[in-house]
Amino acid sequence: MNKFQELGLNSSILKAIEDMGFKSPSEVQEKTIPILLDEDTDMVALAQTGTGKTAAFGFPLIQKIDPKSKHTQALILSPTRELCLQITNELKNYSKYEPSLHPVAVYGGASITEQAKQIERGAQIIVATPGRMQDMIRRKLTDISKIEYCVLDEADEMLNMGFYEDITAILSHTPKEKNTWLFSATMPKEVATIAKKFMRNPVEVTVGSKNMGATNVSHEFYLVNARDRYAALKRLADANPDIFSVIFCRTKRDTQKVAERLIEDGYSAAALHGDLSQNQRDLVMKSFRTRQIQMLVATDVAARGIDVDDITHVINYQLPDEVETYTHRSGRTGRAGKTGTSMVIVSKSELRKIKSIERIIKQSFDEKQLPDGKDICRVQLLHLANDIKNTEINHDIDTYLPNINKVLEDFSKEELIKKFFSVEFTRFSNYYKHASDLAPVSGGANVDLDPNSTRYFMNVGKKDGFDWMSLKDFLKDALQLGKDGVFKVDVKDSFSFFNTENSETDKVLNAFNDFEYQGRKINVEVTKNSNNGGAKGGRRRKGRKDGGFGKSDSKSGNKGRSRFKDDKDTGFKGKKGKRSGSRGKNIESSIKRRKSKK
Ligand code: ADP
Ligand code: MG
Repeated sequence: MNKFQELGLNSSILKAIEDMGFKSPSEVQEKTIPILLDEDTDMVALAQTGTGKTAAFGFPLIQKIDPKSKHTQALILSPTRELCLQITNELKNYSKYEPSLHPVAVYGGASITEQAKQIERGAQIIVATPGRMQDMIRRKLTDISKIEYCVLDEADEMLNMGFYEDITAILSHTPKEKNTWLFSATMPKEVATIAKKFMRNPVEVTVGSKNMGATNVSHEFYLVNARDRYAALKRLADANPDIFSVIFCRTKRDTQKVAERLIEDGYSAAALHGDLSQNQRDLVMKSFRTRQIQMLVATDVAARGIDVDDITHVINYQLPDEVETYTHRSGRTGRAGKTGTSMVIVSKSELRKIKSIERIIKQSFDEKQLPDGKDICRVQLLHLANDIKNTEINHDIDTYLPNINKVLEDFSKEELIKKFFSVEFTRFSNYYKHASDLAPVSGGANVDLDPNSTRYFMNVGKKDGFDWMSLKDFLKDALQLGKDGVFKVDVKDSFSFFNTENSETDKVLNAFNDFEYQGRKINVEVTKNSNNGGAKGGRRRKGRKDGGFGKSDSKSGNKGRSRFKDDKDTGFKGKKGKRSGSRGKNIESSIKRRKSKK
C-alpha cells in the first residue's frame, strides 16, 4: 500500500499525487493529514520552510470540500500575492481529477472585478491575501459567512507583515463553528496570540524543534570591513559560477543599489522590492524562476514566501534586525531535501548578532575567509573548461571553419588551449592581481566572539556517526559539564570542534587524556590561539584559528595537529554548496558575461 494511501486520502487525490511525482509524505504531512481527515478540529502545525505544508492542509481540504456545491467552503489566507498564486496552483494540481472543484486566487495588483467574476462562477476555495480579501468583503463581492474551513498559512509571515488587524476583521465575517488550521514555520508570541484568540482546543503538531533553521542548510560568515561589503559579495559570486541565489538587503534603497552595481559589473542580477510595480515584480520573479537571473537581490518583505526550489545560496548582504527574519531568509535554500548554504557578510560590529542567531537556530556558523584572486581564477577556468566539454557543437559554424582554421593552423592543441584560456583568464587575473584579501585589519572573529571560551579540536566527526547534537550530548556526558557547558559544536567529516569556558580547559584535557571510543583513542586538543594573538593589530593571519576545512577536508583522516599547519596557506576554501556542471542554455558562464571594464 502506498504511504499516501495509508493516510486515508481518496483515489482521485492519490492519482494526482502520483502525477506530481511525490513518492512519500513528508513528516508534517504524515502527522497532520490523518487528523485533519478524521476529525473536525482546529490545528496549529509548525514545520520549517520547505517541508510541504501546502499539501499538508491542501490534501485534506480538497478531500473534505464538497465539489458539487458551488458555495465558498474554505478560505485560505496567505501573506503575499506570490504565495497566493502558488497555493492556488498547487490546489489545482491536487484536484486535477476533481474537475468541478474551483480554487480561486484573490490578491492585490490585479483586476478585482475579474476575481469577483471567478468567485461568482463558484469558488469552493478562496486563496487570498488579507488586504485584497478585506476589499472584497467591503465591496460585498464575496460571501464567506458559510465557510467550514479557514487556513492561516505562513501565519508568522502574515503577522510580520502587519496583517493582524486585517486577519481579525476578515475572521469576524466567518461563522463561529468552522475549523481553523494554522500553519507556520515559527511560533512567535503573535502567532500564539492568534491561536488563542481564534481557535478552540487546537491539536498541536510540531515537526523538528520550534524555530530551528532547516538542518540541511549550512551557515557561514565572512568578516569584512563594512565598506568592503560589495567587493565581498562579488567574490562570493565569482567563486560560485553556478550560483543561483537570493541576496538580502535591509532597505529598498540598498536592494536597488546592489542590484544595479551587479548588473553594471556584468552579473545576471535583478532587484525585487516594494517600490517596483506589480508588473515589474512579476517579470523579475518569472526571470528568476526560469533561471534567466542568477542573483535576485531582495528585501525581506518582497521575498516573503518565495518558493523557488534549488536555490544554492542565500546571501545576507546585511544581517536583519530580527533573528526570526534570519530563519526565514536561510529557509529559502535547502528546500525539498536539497542542501544549501546561507552566507553572511558581516562587519565586526555585528559579530554579536551571529552569536545570538547561533543560539536560536541551534546551529553554528563556519567562519570562512573570502576566496582570493587565485582561488577565483582556478574555479572560473575549471568551470569554463567544463562548459566547453559539455557544449554541443553548433554546426552552423562549419561554413566559417576553413577561414578560422587558416588563422590558427600553426598552433598545437596545447598552444590553442593556452591562448583560448588566456582570453578569459587575463580579465580576471587583472582584476584580482592587486586585490587585498578583504579581511578587516586587526583581530580575528573568534577573538571577538568568545574572549572567555576555549575552542578544541577533536578527532571524531560525521564518519563516526556524530552530528552536532549527538556530539554535544556525548561531550556533556563525558565532561559532566552543565547544560550549556559545551557550545559551538561543529562537526566535520572526520573531526570536530567545540568550545567550553576557559576555566574548564584542564578538566576537558584531563577527561580525554586517555579516552577510548569504540576502540579508538580520542584525541582532544586546544586549537591554536583561541584567546590571544590576532588582536595585536596588523594584518589578519592567514591561518584559521579554529582549523580550516580547506582542500584536505575529506581525505585528511585523523592527522590531529598537523592539519592546522597544512591549512596555513590553504588555497581555495572548500565550498560545500558548489554544484558542478552547467545549468543549461539559459545560463552562460558568468565569466563570459563580465564586461572588460573591471
Ligand atoms: P512549505 O510551505 O512548508 O514551505 P511547500 O508546501 O511550499 O513547503 O513545499 C516545498 C516543496 O516541496 C514544493 O516544491 C512541493 O511541491 C514539494 N513537496 C511537498 N510535499 C512533497 C512530498 N511529499 N514529496 C516530494 N515533494 C514534496
Ligand atoms: Mg508554505
